[in-house]
Amino acid sequence: MLHTERKRLTKQSFRRSLRIFRYISPYRVPFIIGLICLAISSVSSLAIFSSLGELIDFTQQNFKEKVWHVTLLLGILLIIQAITSYLRIYTFSIVTENSIAKLRKDVFNHLLILPMQFYASKRTGELSSRISSDISTIKDSLTTYLAEFIRQIIIIIGSVAIMWSTSWKLALFMLATLPALALFAVSFGRYVRKLSKKAQNQVAESQTIVEETLTGMVTVKAFTGEWFESRRYAKVTDDLIRTGMKNAVVRGIFASTLIVFLFGSVVAIVWFGSNLVAKGEITGGNLFQFFLLSVFMAGSVGGLADTYSQLQKSIGATENLLDILEEKPEMKLINELKIDDKRFNGSIEFINVSFAYPSRKEFPVIRNLSFSIEPGKQLAIVGPSGAGKSTITALLLRLFEPTSGTILVDGKPAAEYDLTFYRSQMALVPQDVILFGGTIRENILYGKPNATENEIIEAARKANAHEFITSFPDGYDTIVGERGTKLSGGQRQRIAIARAVLSDPAILLLDEATSSLDSESERQVQDALEKLMQGRTSIVIAHRLSTIRNADQILVIDRGELVEKGDHQTLMQKEGGLYKYLTGLQVGI
Ligand code: ADP
Repeated sequence: MLHTERKRLTKQSFRRSLRIFRYISPYRVPFIIGLICLAISSVSSLAIFSSLGELIDFTQQNFKEKVWHVTLLLGILLIIQAITSYLRIYTFSIVTENSIAKLRKDVFNHLLILPMQFYASKRTGELSSRISSDISTIKDSLTTYLAEFIRQIIIIIGSVAIMWSTSWKLALFMLATLPALALFAVSFGRYVRKLSKKAQNQVAESQTIVEETLTGMVTVKAFTGEWFESRRYAKVTDDLIRTGMKNAVVRGIFASTLIVFLFGSVVAIVWFGSNLVAKGEITGGNLFQFFLLSVFMAGSVGGLADTYSQLQKSIGATENLLDILEEKPEMKLINELKIDDKRFNGSIEFINVSFAYPSRKEFPVIRNLSFSIEPGKQLAIVGPSGAGKSTITALLLRLFEPTSGTILVDGKPAAEYDLTFYRSQMALVPQDVILFGGTIRENILYGKPNATENEIIEAARKANAHEFITSFPDGYDTIVGERGTKLSGGQRQRIAIARAVLSDPAILLLDEATSSLDSESERQVQDALEKLMQGRTSIVIAHRLSTIRNADQILVIDRGELVEKGDHQTLMQKEGGLYKYLTGLQVGI
Protein backbone atom coordinates (compact mmCIF):
# COMPACT_ATOMS: atom_id res chain seq x y z
CA MET A 1 0.00 0.00 0.00
CA LEU A 2 1.14 3.47 -0.75
CA HIS A 3 1.32 6.11 1.86
CA THR A 4 1.52 9.73 1.04
CA GLU A 5 4.57 11.09 2.71
CA ARG A 6 4.27 13.78 5.23
CA LYS A 7 6.29 16.55 3.69
CA ARG A 8 7.92 19.23 5.73
CA LEU A 9 5.64 22.15 5.82
CA THR A 10 7.42 25.07 4.24
CA LYS A 11 5.91 28.42 3.55
CA GLN A 12 6.31 27.79 -0.14
CA SER A 13 4.67 24.36 -0.17
CA PHE A 14 1.85 25.70 1.97
CA ARG A 15 1.25 28.62 -0.36
CA ARG A 16 1.41 26.36 -3.38
CA SER A 17 -1.05 23.90 -1.96
CA LEU A 18 -3.46 26.70 -1.24
CA ARG A 19 -4.10 26.51 -4.96
CA ILE A 20 -6.35 23.59 -4.15
CA PHE A 21 -8.80 26.27 -3.02
CA ARG A 22 -9.32 27.06 -6.70
CA TYR A 23 -11.40 23.91 -6.69
CA ILE A 24 -13.30 25.00 -3.61
CA SER A 25 -14.00 28.58 -4.61
CA PRO A 26 -17.06 27.82 -6.78
CA TYR A 27 -18.61 26.33 -3.63
CA ARG A 28 -17.65 29.12 -1.26
CA VAL A 29 -21.22 29.75 -0.14
CA PRO A 30 -21.76 26.26 1.31
CA PHE A 31 -18.16 26.32 2.55
CA ILE A 32 -18.71 29.52 4.52
CA ILE A 33 -22.07 28.24 5.84
CA GLY A 34 -20.20 25.11 6.93
CA LEU A 35 -17.55 27.18 8.70
CA ILE A 36 -20.20 29.24 10.50
CA CYS A 37 -22.01 26.05 11.59
CA LEU A 38 -18.70 24.67 12.76
CA ALA A 39 -18.03 27.75 14.85
CA ILE A 40 -21.55 27.70 16.33
CA SER A 41 -21.39 23.99 17.17
CA SER A 42 -17.95 24.36 18.79
CA VAL A 43 -19.04 27.35 20.85
CA SER A 44 -22.29 25.63 21.81
CA SER A 45 -20.40 22.58 23.07
CA LEU A 46 -18.32 24.90 25.23
CA ALA A 47 -21.53 26.53 26.45
CA ILE A 48 -22.99 23.13 27.29
CA PHE A 49 -20.04 22.30 29.51
CA SER A 50 -20.07 25.60 31.30
CA SER A 51 -23.85 25.44 31.88
CA LEU A 52 -23.42 22.01 33.41
CA GLY A 53 -21.26 23.62 36.09
CA GLU A 54 -23.96 26.18 36.79
CA LEU A 55 -26.54 23.45 37.05
CA ILE A 56 -24.64 21.86 39.90
CA ASP A 57 -24.42 25.11 41.84
CA PHE A 58 -28.11 25.76 41.42
CA THR A 59 -28.94 22.31 42.66
CA GLN A 60 -26.85 22.85 45.75
CA GLN A 61 -28.48 26.15 46.48
CA ASN A 62 -31.89 24.70 45.69
CA PHE A 63 -32.97 27.34 43.22
CA LYS A 64 -35.39 25.05 41.49
CA GLU A 65 -36.87 27.51 38.99
CA LYS A 66 -33.38 28.57 37.88
CA VAL A 67 -32.48 24.94 37.40
CA TRP A 68 -35.27 24.75 34.87
CA HIS A 69 -33.94 27.77 33.04
CA VAL A 70 -30.52 26.24 32.73
CA THR A 71 -31.97 22.88 31.76
CA LEU A 72 -34.01 24.60 29.06
CA LEU A 73 -30.92 26.43 27.89
CA LEU A 74 -29.04 23.14 27.77
CA GLY A 75 -31.85 21.60 25.73
CA ILE A 76 -31.74 24.49 23.26
CA LEU A 77 -27.96 24.25 23.06
CA LEU A 78 -28.23 20.54 22.32
CA ILE A 79 -30.70 21.20 19.52
CA ILE A 80 -28.45 23.92 18.09
CA GLN A 81 -25.56 21.51 18.38
CA ALA A 82 -27.48 18.80 16.50
CA ILE A 83 -28.63 21.10 13.71
CA THR A 84 -25.27 22.81 13.16
CA SER A 85 -23.37 19.52 13.25
CA TYR A 86 -25.68 18.09 10.62
CA LEU A 87 -25.50 21.22 8.47
CA ARG A 88 -21.74 21.40 8.80
CA ILE A 89 -21.29 17.81 7.60
CA TYR A 90 -23.82 18.32 4.81
CA THR A 91 -22.40 21.60 3.49
CA PHE A 92 -18.81 20.40 3.74
CA SER A 93 -19.81 17.33 1.76
CA ILE A 94 -21.31 19.50 -0.98
CA VAL A 95 -18.00 21.33 -1.20
CA THR A 96 -15.81 18.24 -1.01
CA GLU A 97 -17.74 15.91 -3.29
CA ASN A 98 -17.98 18.50 -6.04
CA SER A 99 -14.49 19.91 -5.81
CA ILE A 100 -12.88 16.46 -5.51
CA ALA A 101 -14.85 15.23 -8.53
CA LYS A 102 -13.58 18.22 -10.51
CA LEU A 103 -10.04 17.55 -9.32
CA ARG A 104 -10.33 13.89 -10.32
CA LYS A 105 -11.58 14.82 -13.78
CA ASP A 106 -8.86 17.43 -14.22
CA VAL A 107 -6.10 15.03 -13.24
CA PHE A 108 -7.46 12.28 -15.49
CA ASN A 109 -7.94 14.64 -18.42
CA HIS A 110 -4.47 15.97 -17.93
CA LEU A 111 -3.05 12.46 -17.86
CA LEU A 112 -4.73 11.84 -21.22
CA ILE A 113 -2.90 14.68 -22.91
CA LEU A 114 0.53 14.13 -21.38
CA PRO A 115 3.17 12.88 -23.79
CA MET A 116 4.42 9.29 -23.70
CA GLN A 117 7.67 10.71 -22.42
CA PHE A 118 5.93 11.32 -19.11
CA TYR A 119 4.83 7.69 -18.93
CA ALA A 120 8.19 6.35 -20.02
CA SER A 121 9.64 7.30 -16.66
CA LYS A 122 6.70 6.16 -14.52
CA ARG A 123 5.33 2.85 -13.43
CA THR A 124 1.70 3.12 -14.38
CA GLY A 125 0.39 0.91 -11.56
CA GLU A 126 2.21 3.02 -9.03
CA LEU A 127 1.09 6.24 -10.69
CA SER A 128 -2.58 5.28 -10.56
CA SER A 129 -2.53 4.12 -6.94
CA ARG A 130 -0.53 7.16 -5.91
CA ILE A 131 -3.09 9.44 -7.53
CA SER A 132 -6.04 7.70 -5.95
CA SER A 133 -4.43 7.70 -2.51
CA ASP A 134 -3.49 11.38 -2.88
CA ILE A 135 -7.02 12.28 -3.85
CA SER A 136 -8.53 10.38 -0.95
CA THR A 137 -6.07 12.03 1.46
CA ILE A 138 -7.20 15.45 0.24
CA LYS A 139 -10.82 14.38 0.43
CA ASP A 140 -10.42 13.21 4.04
CA SER A 141 -8.80 16.50 4.91
CA LEU A 142 -11.56 18.55 3.40
CA THR A 143 -14.40 16.52 4.88
CA THR A 144 -12.97 15.83 8.31
CA TYR A 145 -9.59 17.12 9.27
CA LEU A 146 -9.93 20.74 8.25
CA ALA A 147 -13.13 21.02 10.28
CA GLU A 148 -11.58 19.08 13.15
CA PHE A 149 -8.60 21.41 13.15
CA ILE A 150 -10.72 24.54 13.33
CA ARG A 151 -12.98 22.99 15.97
CA GLN A 152 -10.03 21.95 18.11
CA ILE A 153 -8.51 25.42 17.96
CA ILE A 154 -11.83 27.04 18.94
CA ILE A 155 -12.26 24.58 21.79
CA ILE A 156 -8.75 25.03 23.14
CA ILE A 157 -8.91 28.81 23.02
CA GLY A 158 -12.51 28.93 24.25
CA SER A 159 -12.07 26.57 27.18
CA VAL A 160 -8.89 28.28 28.33
CA ALA A 161 -10.70 31.62 28.17
CA ILE A 162 -13.67 30.35 30.19
CA MET A 163 -11.43 28.67 32.74
CA TRP A 164 -9.24 31.74 33.00
CA SER A 165 -12.22 33.97 33.66
CA THR A 166 -13.48 31.61 36.35
CA SER A 167 -10.20 31.17 38.16
CA TRP A 168 -6.88 32.05 36.65
CA LYS A 169 -5.03 30.19 39.41
CA LEU A 170 -6.71 26.88 38.68
CA ALA A 171 -6.40 27.54 34.93
CA LEU A 172 -2.65 28.01 35.27
CA PHE A 173 -2.36 24.90 37.39
CA MET A 174 -4.30 22.87 34.84
CA LEU A 175 -2.36 24.30 31.90
CA ALA A 176 0.87 23.20 33.52
CA THR A 177 -0.19 19.57 33.55
CA LEU A 178 -2.84 18.37 31.12
CA PRO A 179 -1.65 19.71 27.73
CA ALA A 180 1.84 18.37 28.36
CA LEU A 181 0.35 15.02 29.19
CA ALA A 182 -1.78 15.04 26.05
CA LEU A 183 1.27 15.79 23.92
CA PHE A 184 3.23 13.04 25.65
CA ALA A 185 0.41 10.60 24.89
CA VAL A 186 0.40 11.61 21.24
CA SER A 187 4.12 11.34 20.65
CA PHE A 188 4.39 8.08 22.53
CA GLY A 189 1.36 6.81 20.61
CA ARG A 190 3.11 7.61 17.38
CA TYR A 191 6.17 5.66 18.45
CA VAL A 192 3.97 2.68 19.32
CA ARG A 193 2.31 2.89 15.91
CA LYS A 194 5.69 2.90 14.21
CA LEU A 195 6.60 -0.27 16.05
CA SER A 196 3.39 -1.98 15.12
CA LYS A 197 4.00 -1.04 11.51
CA LYS A 198 7.25 -2.94 11.69
CA ALA A 199 5.32 -5.94 12.93
CA GLN A 200 2.85 -5.57 10.08
CA ASN A 201 5.67 -5.52 7.56
CA GLN A 202 7.08 -8.68 9.06
CA VAL A 203 3.68 -10.34 8.84
CA ALA A 204 3.47 -9.29 5.18
CA GLU A 205 6.92 -10.73 4.61
CA SER A 206 5.97 -14.05 6.12
CA GLN A 207 2.82 -14.02 4.03
CA THR A 208 4.91 -13.54 0.89
CA ILE A 209 6.93 -16.61 1.75
CA VAL A 210 3.76 -18.66 2.14
CA GLU A 211 2.40 -17.38 -1.17
CA GLU A 212 5.64 -17.92 -3.04
CA THR A 213 6.00 -21.41 -1.68
CA LEU A 214 2.42 -22.39 -2.43
CA THR A 215 2.52 -21.09 -5.98
CA GLY A 216 5.91 -22.62 -6.61
CA MET A 217 5.11 -25.91 -4.90
CA VAL A 218 6.17 -27.94 -7.93
CA THR A 219 9.59 -26.27 -7.88
CA VAL A 220 9.88 -26.73 -4.12
CA LYS A 221 9.16 -30.42 -4.43
CA ALA A 222 11.22 -30.97 -7.57
CA PHE A 223 14.27 -29.45 -5.90
CA THR A 224 13.47 -30.89 -2.44
CA GLY A 225 13.38 -27.34 -1.16
CA GLU A 226 11.05 -28.17 1.77
CA TRP A 227 13.73 -27.79 4.41
CA PHE A 228 14.95 -24.50 2.95
CA GLU A 229 11.41 -23.07 2.88
CA SER A 230 10.74 -24.32 6.39
CA ARG A 231 13.85 -22.57 7.72
CA ARG A 232 13.04 -19.39 5.81
CA TYR A 233 9.53 -19.29 7.26
CA ALA A 234 10.74 -20.15 10.78
CA LYS A 235 13.15 -17.23 10.69
CA VAL A 236 10.53 -14.59 9.94
CA THR A 237 8.02 -16.04 12.37
CA ASP A 238 10.68 -16.02 15.11
CA ASP A 239 11.44 -12.40 14.28
CA LEU A 240 7.76 -11.77 14.67
CA ILE A 241 7.85 -13.01 18.26
CA ARG A 242 10.71 -10.66 19.11
CA THR A 243 8.99 -7.66 17.56
CA GLY A 244 5.71 -8.60 19.22
CA MET A 245 7.30 -8.84 22.67
CA LYS A 246 9.22 -5.60 22.22
CA ASN A 247 5.96 -3.92 21.27
CA ALA A 248 4.28 -5.39 24.33
CA VAL A 249 6.92 -3.92 26.66
CA VAL A 250 6.63 -0.47 25.07
CA ARG A 251 2.84 -0.61 25.08
CA GLY A 252 2.82 -1.72 28.70
CA ILE A 253 5.10 1.11 29.79
CA PHE A 254 3.01 3.55 27.77
CA ALA A 255 -0.28 2.42 29.29
CA SER A 256 0.95 2.37 32.88
CA THR A 257 2.79 5.70 32.65
CA LEU A 258 -0.22 7.33 31.09
CA ILE A 259 -2.59 5.98 33.71
CA VAL A 260 -0.36 7.10 36.58
CA PHE A 261 0.18 10.56 35.18
CA LEU A 262 -3.36 11.04 33.98
CA PHE A 263 -4.91 10.08 37.30
CA GLY A 264 -2.13 11.88 39.10
CA SER A 265 -2.85 15.15 37.37
CA VAL A 266 -6.60 14.73 37.74
CA VAL A 267 -6.10 14.16 41.45
CA ALA A 268 -3.78 17.18 41.63
CA ILE A 269 -6.26 19.45 39.84
CA VAL A 270 -9.16 18.30 42.02
CA TRP A 271 -7.01 18.72 45.14
CA PHE A 272 -5.94 22.22 44.12
CA GLY A 273 -9.49 23.06 43.09
CA SER A 274 -11.01 21.77 46.33
CA ASN A 275 -8.66 24.04 48.23
CA LEU A 276 -9.95 26.97 46.21
CA VAL A 277 -13.54 25.85 46.89
CA ALA A 278 -12.76 25.61 50.58
CA LYS A 279 -11.33 29.11 50.52
CA GLY A 280 -14.49 30.24 48.76
CA GLU A 281 -12.64 31.42 45.68
CA ILE A 282 -14.71 29.20 43.39
CA THR A 283 -17.89 27.16 43.74
CA GLY A 284 -18.26 23.38 43.49
CA GLY A 285 -20.03 23.92 40.18
CA ASN A 286 -17.05 25.94 38.95
CA LEU A 287 -14.80 23.05 39.82
CA PHE A 288 -17.01 20.58 38.00
CA GLN A 289 -17.15 22.87 34.97
CA PHE A 290 -13.42 23.26 35.15
CA PHE A 291 -12.95 19.56 35.24
CA LEU A 292 -15.16 18.91 32.22
CA LEU A 293 -13.55 21.68 30.22
CA SER A 294 -10.03 20.46 31.02
CA VAL A 295 -10.80 16.96 29.80
CA PHE A 296 -12.46 18.39 26.72
CA MET A 297 -9.51 20.66 26.07
CA ALA A 298 -6.93 17.94 26.68
CA GLY A 299 -8.74 15.79 24.12
CA SER A 300 -8.50 18.61 21.61
CA VAL A 301 -4.81 19.20 22.32
CA GLY A 302 -4.16 15.49 21.81
CA GLY A 303 -6.24 15.43 18.64
CA LEU A 304 -4.63 18.57 17.30
CA ALA A 305 -1.29 16.87 16.71
CA ASP A 306 -2.98 14.16 14.70
CA THR A 307 -5.10 16.52 12.65
CA TYR A 308 -2.10 18.69 12.00
CA SER A 309 -0.14 15.75 10.66
CA GLN A 310 -3.08 14.73 8.49
CA LEU A 311 -3.27 18.24 7.06
CA GLN A 312 0.45 18.14 6.45
CA LYS A 313 -0.03 14.86 4.60
CA SER A 314 -2.66 16.38 2.40
CA ILE A 315 -0.39 19.28 1.59
CA GLY A 316 2.09 16.68 0.33
CA ALA A 317 -0.70 15.00 -1.62
CA THR A 318 -1.79 18.30 -3.13
CA GLU A 319 1.76 18.98 -4.21
CA ASN A 320 1.99 15.60 -5.92
CA LEU A 321 -1.19 16.28 -7.85
CA LEU A 322 -0.15 19.81 -8.72
CA ASP A 323 3.09 18.38 -10.06
CA ILE A 324 1.08 16.23 -12.45
CA LEU A 325 -1.27 19.07 -13.38
CA GLU A 326 1.70 21.28 -14.14
CA GLU A 327 3.37 18.75 -16.46
CA LYS A 328 3.44 20.15 -19.96
CA PRO A 329 0.81 18.46 -22.13
CA GLU A 330 1.39 17.56 -25.75
CA MET A 331 -2.03 18.62 -27.00
CA LYS A 332 -5.35 20.11 -26.02
CA LEU A 333 -8.26 17.93 -25.11
CA ILE A 334 -10.84 18.67 -27.78
CA ASN A 335 -14.20 17.19 -28.36
CA GLU A 336 -14.24 16.90 -32.12
CA LEU A 337 -11.98 17.62 -35.02
CA LYS A 338 -12.93 20.64 -37.03
CA ILE A 339 -10.57 19.87 -39.82
CA ASP A 340 -11.85 16.48 -40.89
CA ASP A 341 -12.24 17.47 -44.53
CA LYS A 342 -8.49 17.61 -45.04
CA ARG A 343 -6.95 14.23 -45.45
CA PHE A 344 -3.38 13.10 -45.75
CA ASN A 345 -2.28 11.77 -49.10
CA GLY A 346 -0.04 9.53 -47.11
CA SER A 347 3.50 10.17 -48.29
CA ILE A 348 6.05 9.65 -45.54
CA GLU A 349 9.72 10.46 -45.41
CA PHE A 350 12.25 9.87 -42.64
CA ILE A 351 15.37 12.01 -43.08
CA ASN A 352 18.41 11.08 -40.97
CA VAL A 353 16.23 10.24 -37.96
CA SER A 354 18.01 9.23 -34.78
CA PHE A 355 16.37 8.50 -31.47
CA ALA A 356 17.10 7.39 -27.93
CA TYR A 357 14.40 6.77 -25.31
CA PRO A 358 14.35 9.48 -22.63
CA SER A 359 14.95 6.86 -19.96
CA ARG A 360 18.11 5.63 -21.72
CA LYS A 361 19.50 8.71 -23.40
CA GLU A 362 22.95 7.24 -23.94
CA PHE A 363 21.61 4.27 -25.91
CA PRO A 364 20.51 5.20 -29.45
CA VAL A 365 17.68 2.94 -30.57
CA ILE A 366 17.36 4.41 -34.07
CA ARG A 367 20.46 5.59 -35.88
CA ASN A 368 20.43 7.91 -38.83
CA LEU A 369 17.44 6.32 -40.51
CA SER A 370 16.26 7.56 -43.91
CA PHE A 371 13.55 6.12 -46.13
CA SER A 372 10.43 7.25 -47.94
CA ILE A 373 7.05 5.84 -48.92
CA GLU A 374 4.73 7.10 -51.60
CA PRO A 375 1.03 7.45 -50.92
CA GLY A 376 -0.90 4.17 -50.93
CA LYS A 377 2.21 2.01 -50.96
CA GLN A 378 3.11 -0.74 -48.56
CA LEU A 379 6.33 -0.68 -46.60
CA ALA A 380 7.44 -3.63 -44.53
CA ILE A 381 9.95 -3.42 -41.73
CA VAL A 382 11.79 -6.55 -40.73
CA GLY A 383 14.67 -7.30 -38.45
CA PRO A 384 15.63 -9.16 -35.30
CA SER A 385 13.70 -8.57 -32.11
CA GLY A 386 14.81 -5.39 -30.35
CA ALA A 387 16.09 -3.88 -33.62
CA GLY A 388 13.85 -0.82 -33.23
CA LYS A 389 10.90 -1.67 -35.48
CA SER A 390 8.14 -0.69 -33.04
CA THR A 391 10.10 2.42 -32.17
CA ILE A 392 9.82 3.56 -35.80
CA THR A 393 6.02 3.38 -35.60
CA ALA A 394 6.10 5.17 -32.23
CA LEU A 395 8.11 7.99 -33.83
CA LEU A 396 5.73 8.19 -36.76
CA LEU A 397 2.78 8.39 -34.35
CA ARG A 398 4.69 11.17 -32.59
CA LEU A 399 4.56 9.32 -29.29
CA PHE A 400 8.17 10.45 -29.02
CA GLU A 401 10.09 13.16 -30.84
CA PRO A 402 13.25 12.15 -32.74
CA THR A 403 16.49 13.19 -31.08
CA SER A 404 17.67 14.48 -34.46
CA GLY A 405 16.46 14.36 -38.05
CA THR A 406 13.04 15.03 -39.51
CA ILE A 407 9.92 13.08 -40.33
CA LEU A 408 7.91 14.51 -43.23
CA VAL A 409 4.31 13.62 -43.87
CA ASP A 410 2.85 14.91 -47.14
CA GLY A 411 6.04 16.93 -47.48
CA LYS A 412 5.61 18.86 -44.22
CA PRO A 413 7.47 18.19 -40.96
CA ALA A 414 5.29 15.99 -38.77
CA ALA A 415 5.92 18.26 -35.78
CA GLU A 416 4.14 21.14 -37.53
CA TYR A 417 0.75 19.46 -37.71
CA ASP A 418 -1.85 19.75 -35.02
CA LEU A 419 -1.27 16.56 -33.04
CA THR A 420 -4.91 15.52 -32.74
CA PHE A 421 -5.49 15.97 -36.47
CA TYR A 422 -2.21 14.25 -37.26
CA ARG A 423 -2.99 11.16 -35.23
CA SER A 424 -6.56 11.04 -36.50
CA GLN A 425 -5.08 10.30 -39.90
CA MET A 426 -3.40 7.16 -38.67
CA ALA A 427 -4.53 3.89 -37.22
CA LEU A 428 -2.50 1.36 -35.34
CA VAL A 429 -3.27 -2.33 -35.16
CA PRO A 430 -0.88 -3.41 -32.42
CA GLN A 431 0.60 -6.79 -31.77
CA ASP A 432 -1.04 -7.11 -28.42
CA VAL A 433 -4.58 -5.85 -28.83
CA ILE A 434 -6.04 -4.54 -25.60
CA LEU A 435 -9.79 -4.14 -25.73
CA PHE A 436 -11.54 -1.82 -23.32
CA GLY A 437 -14.03 -3.38 -20.95
CA GLY A 438 -17.40 -2.80 -22.57
CA THR A 439 -19.27 -4.22 -25.53
CA ILE A 440 -17.79 -5.29 -28.84
CA ARG A 441 -19.75 -2.46 -30.46
CA GLU A 442 -18.14 0.12 -28.17
CA ASN A 443 -14.72 -1.26 -28.93
CA ILE A 444 -15.25 -0.95 -32.67
CA LEU A 445 -16.83 2.49 -32.27
CA TYR A 446 -13.59 3.70 -30.72
CA GLY A 447 -12.40 4.18 -34.32
CA LYS A 448 -15.25 6.58 -35.13
CA PRO A 449 -17.57 7.43 -32.25
CA ASN A 450 -20.40 8.73 -34.46
CA ALA A 451 -20.55 5.74 -36.83
CA THR A 452 -23.93 4.24 -37.75
CA GLU A 453 -24.91 0.64 -37.07
CA ASN A 454 -24.49 -0.19 -40.75
CA GLU A 455 -21.00 1.27 -40.80
CA ILE A 456 -20.07 -0.83 -37.76
CA ILE A 457 -21.35 -4.02 -39.36
CA GLU A 458 -19.66 -3.17 -42.65
CA ALA A 459 -16.35 -2.61 -40.84
CA ALA A 460 -16.73 -5.88 -38.95
CA ARG A 461 -17.43 -7.72 -42.21
CA LYS A 462 -14.32 -6.28 -43.82
CA ALA A 463 -12.36 -7.35 -40.76
CA ASN A 464 -13.75 -10.90 -41.03
CA ALA A 465 -15.22 -10.37 -37.59
CA HIS A 466 -18.95 -10.14 -38.28
CA GLU A 467 -19.39 -13.89 -38.37
CA PHE A 468 -17.85 -14.69 -35.02
CA ILE A 469 -19.45 -11.66 -33.39
CA THR A 470 -22.94 -12.69 -34.48
CA SER A 471 -22.28 -16.23 -33.27
CA PHE A 472 -22.26 -14.92 -29.68
CA PRO A 473 -25.71 -14.83 -28.06
CA ASP A 474 -25.41 -11.11 -27.42
CA GLY A 475 -23.82 -10.30 -30.78
CA TYR A 476 -22.38 -6.80 -30.88
CA ASP A 477 -23.53 -6.23 -27.31
CA THR A 478 -21.26 -8.96 -25.96
CA ILE A 479 -19.23 -7.62 -23.07
CA VAL A 480 -15.52 -8.24 -23.54
CA GLY A 481 -12.71 -8.25 -21.04
CA GLU A 482 -12.41 -9.46 -17.52
CA ARG A 483 -16.04 -9.78 -16.62
CA GLY A 484 -17.24 -10.66 -20.11
CA THR A 485 -16.49 -13.12 -22.85
CA LYS A 486 -12.84 -13.86 -23.26
CA LEU A 487 -11.89 -13.45 -26.90
CA SER A 488 -9.08 -15.31 -28.59
CA GLY A 489 -6.02 -13.45 -29.88
CA GLY A 490 -7.25 -13.67 -33.47
CA GLN A 491 -10.72 -12.40 -32.54
CA ARG A 492 -9.29 -9.48 -30.62
CA GLN A 493 -7.10 -8.63 -33.52
CA ARG A 494 -10.01 -8.68 -35.95
CA ILE A 495 -11.94 -6.32 -33.69
CA ALA A 496 -8.93 -4.00 -33.72
CA ILE A 497 -8.92 -4.26 -37.51
CA ALA A 498 -12.64 -3.41 -37.63
CA ARG A 499 -11.86 -0.39 -35.47
CA ALA A 500 -9.16 0.66 -37.93
CA VAL A 501 -11.49 0.09 -40.92
CA LEU A 502 -14.06 2.34 -39.30
CA SER A 503 -11.58 5.11 -38.60
CA ASP A 504 -10.59 5.00 -42.29
CA PRO A 505 -7.06 6.33 -41.83
CA ALA A 506 -4.78 7.54 -44.60
CA ILE A 507 -1.85 5.83 -42.92
CA LEU A 508 -1.99 2.42 -41.39
CA LEU A 509 0.50 0.99 -38.93
CA LEU A 510 0.40 -2.75 -38.40
CA ASP A 511 2.41 -4.58 -35.84
CA GLU A 512 1.74 -8.02 -37.19
CA ALA A 513 1.22 -10.73 -34.69
CA THR A 514 -0.01 -13.52 -36.82
CA SER A 515 2.70 -15.80 -35.46
CA SER A 516 0.73 -16.43 -32.29
CA LEU A 517 -2.41 -17.42 -34.19
CA ASP A 518 -3.49 -20.80 -35.47
CA SER A 519 -3.45 -21.10 -39.24
CA GLU A 520 -7.19 -20.56 -39.74
CA SER A 521 -7.20 -17.38 -37.62
CA GLU A 522 -4.05 -16.26 -39.32
CA ARG A 523 -5.60 -16.65 -42.75
CA GLN A 524 -8.66 -14.67 -41.65
CA VAL A 525 -6.59 -11.90 -40.05
CA GLN A 526 -4.21 -11.75 -42.99
CA ASP A 527 -7.09 -11.53 -45.40
CA ALA A 528 -8.69 -8.74 -43.33
CA LEU A 529 -5.41 -6.87 -43.16
CA GLU A 530 -4.97 -7.03 -46.90
CA LYS A 531 -8.40 -5.57 -47.46
CA LEU A 532 -7.63 -2.88 -44.91
CA MET A 533 -4.35 -1.91 -46.56
CA GLN A 534 -5.87 -1.25 -49.97
CA GLY A 535 -5.62 2.39 -50.93
CA ARG A 536 -3.70 3.41 -47.80
CA THR A 537 -0.09 3.97 -47.03
CA SER A 538 0.79 1.03 -44.81
CA ILE A 539 3.74 0.30 -42.62
CA VAL A 540 3.85 -3.33 -41.60
CA ILE A 541 6.14 -4.69 -38.96
CA ALA A 542 6.49 -8.21 -40.21
CA HIS A 543 7.26 -11.08 -37.92
CA ARG A 544 6.47 -13.67 -40.55
CA LEU A 545 8.38 -12.82 -43.64
CA SER A 546 6.08 -14.89 -45.83
CA THR A 547 3.33 -12.30 -45.34
CA ILE A 548 5.19 -9.39 -46.85
CA ARG A 549 6.51 -10.82 -50.11
CA ASN A 550 4.32 -8.41 -52.04
CA ALA A 551 5.28 -5.31 -50.12
CA ASP A 552 6.43 -2.46 -52.33
CA GLN A 553 9.46 -1.92 -50.20
CA ILE A 554 11.12 -3.82 -47.39
CA LEU A 555 13.41 -2.18 -44.84
CA VAL A 556 15.73 -4.47 -42.95
CA ILE A 557 16.66 -2.95 -39.60
CA ASP A 558 19.38 -4.20 -37.32
CA ARG A 559 20.29 -2.49 -34.04
CA GLY A 560 18.51 0.67 -35.10
CA GLU A 561 20.25 0.92 -38.45
CA LEU A 562 18.93 0.42 -41.94
CA VAL A 563 21.00 -2.43 -43.34
CA GLU A 564 19.07 -3.40 -46.47
CA LYS A 565 16.30 -1.92 -48.55
CA GLY A 566 14.40 -3.19 -51.59
CA ASP A 567 11.61 -5.52 -52.60
CA HIS A 568 11.53 -9.24 -51.86
CA GLN A 569 13.17 -10.24 -55.15
CA THR A 570 16.04 -7.81 -54.84
CA LEU A 571 16.74 -8.68 -51.21
CA MET A 572 16.66 -12.43 -51.86
CA GLN A 573 19.34 -12.02 -54.48
CA LYS A 574 21.72 -10.49 -52.00
CA GLU A 575 24.08 -13.27 -50.96
CA GLY A 576 24.93 -13.12 -47.27
CA GLY A 577 22.23 -10.50 -46.69
CA LEU A 578 20.30 -10.34 -43.43
CA TYR A 579 16.91 -10.60 -45.15
CA LYS A 580 17.93 -13.73 -46.98
CA TYR A 581 19.28 -15.17 -43.75
CA LEU A 582 16.11 -14.34 -41.77
CA THR A 583 13.92 -15.78 -44.53
CA GLY A 584 16.04 -18.92 -44.50
CA LEU A 585 15.38 -19.31 -40.76
CA GLN A 586 11.65 -19.16 -41.31
CA VAL A 587 11.34 -21.53 -44.26
CA GLY A 588 8.79 -24.16 -43.46
CA ILE A 589 7.21 -22.22 -40.61
P1 ADP B 1 11.46 -4.24 -32.04
O1 ADP B 1 10.11 -3.70 -32.30
O2 ADP B 1 12.33 -4.27 -33.25
O3 ADP B 1 11.46 -5.57 -31.36
P2 ADP B 1 11.67 -2.03 -30.23
O4 ADP B 1 11.48 -0.85 -31.10
O5 ADP B 1 10.51 -2.45 -29.42
O6 ADP B 1 12.23 -3.24 -31.08
O7 ADP B 1 12.87 -1.76 -29.23
C1 ADP B 1 14.12 -1.29 -29.66
C2 ADP B 1 15.01 -1.05 -28.46
O8 ADP B 1 14.48 -0.01 -27.66
C3 ADP B 1 15.14 -2.27 -27.54
O9 ADP B 1 16.49 -2.33 -27.16
C4 ADP B 1 14.28 -1.93 -26.37
O10 ADP B 1 14.84 -2.48 -25.21
C5 ADP B 1 14.31 -0.41 -26.33
N1 ADP B 1 13.05 0.14 -25.85
C6 ADP B 1 11.81 -0.08 -26.34
N2 ADP B 1 10.88 0.65 -25.68
C7 ADP B 1 11.56 1.36 -24.75
C8 ADP B 1 11.16 2.33 -23.76
N3 ADP B 1 9.90 2.70 -23.59
N4 ADP B 1 12.13 2.84 -22.97
C9 ADP B 1 13.43 2.47 -23.12
N5 ADP B 1 13.86 1.60 -24.03
C10 ADP B 1 12.95 1.03 -24.85
